[in-house]
Amino acid sequence: MNFLITGAAGFLGSALANHLAREGHQVRGLDDLSAGEPQVLEPGVHFTRGDVNDRPKLWTLLQDVDCVYHLAARVSVPESILYPREYNAVNVGGTVSLMEAMRDVGIRRVVLASSGAIYGDQEVQPLSEGQAPKPRSPYAVSKLAAEYYVRTIGALWGIETISLRIFNAYGPGQHLPPAHPPVVPYFLRQAIRNGTIVVHHDGGQTRDFVYVDDVVSAMVAASTAPTINGLVINIGSGYETTVRDLARLTMEATGSQANVVYNQQVEGGVSRMCANITLAQKKLNYKPAIGLKQGLRLALERDPRFKG
Ligand code: NAD
Repeated sequence: MNFLITGAAGFLGSALANHLAREGHQVRGLDDLSAGEPQVLEPGVHFTRGDVNDRPKLWTLLQDVDCVYHLAARVSVPESILYPREYNAVNVGGTVSLMEAMRDVGIRRVVLASSGAIYGDQEVQPLSEGQAPKPRSPYAVSKLAAEYYVRTIGALWGIETISLRIFNAYGPGQHLPPAHPPVVPYFLRQAIRNGTIVVHHDGGQTRDFVYVDDVVSAMVAASTAPTINGLVINIGSGYETTVRDLARLTMEATGSQANVVYNQQVEGGVSRMCANITLAQKKLNYKPAIGLKQGLRLALERDPRFKG
């Protein structure tokens, strides 16, 4: 098949692009390199640097494409609180630009990387797709708006759309920006350095950590699965882990002497997150295969930044 992946030089986009290219598919990747790095892409991926709002570039890249994966986005919750206009322009405006270009060229299907963040704080766990979203940040709002846009204009224009609500993905290659790094690579780096691991609040907040290869398997299935047009589907592990336990598991996986401290002044964010993955199991034959202990070990083995 022929694929276009936006955000292809990012953490999840590159894992997907390299996987599809290794499987023998034709893969084009688009990324403006605001966060991504093209050298993570294997030679089989045809990379173009560009903005997802650049419609002429999209028209060219979309020729003969069977399915588009839309991952290009600004991805930091704290940053989105500072720059909501930017998040709206890229995550919402970029999605609409892509949909318009897909309509013009006549593309059949798009898989949107949405986020478990759209749920916000909810009493009922695990989180099911039918629960009313309660986004708590401009990032979450932008992902929810993107979901609504693809589903609504996709139905009007005859484009099949699937939104995957990805929970806390982690694994080799995940970006580690200096400000507000994602929790898993931050803990791993600090553990390897025998430094200090700062846990936000009391560490009692939970997350559903899902290994990158499991996310890739769900994305691959979403390109061809029947009877999923218009659906939103959770992609997580189905397990919730406290951030305190993540720190403990990281210490065990690394044999670290790091100092774990709790910063009660920092808000812990959403208090609980656990994905109900029944719909993914049913519609995508999704079976997450890598538990957190194994996933941390794999991240350590496969990511050169974590070599002692
Ligand atoms: P990432 O930052 O590694 O990847 C995003 C990529 O998009 C980057 O390479 C960046 O350079 C690119 N990009 C940003 N703005 C762009 C623009 N205007 N034009 C073209 N490219 C642009 O993040 P990721 O973790 O790989 O996330 C990929 C997607 O999955 C995002 O849409 C994100 O919202 C979604 N998601 C990720 C997670 C997770 O845990 N990693 C969870 C839920 C949803």
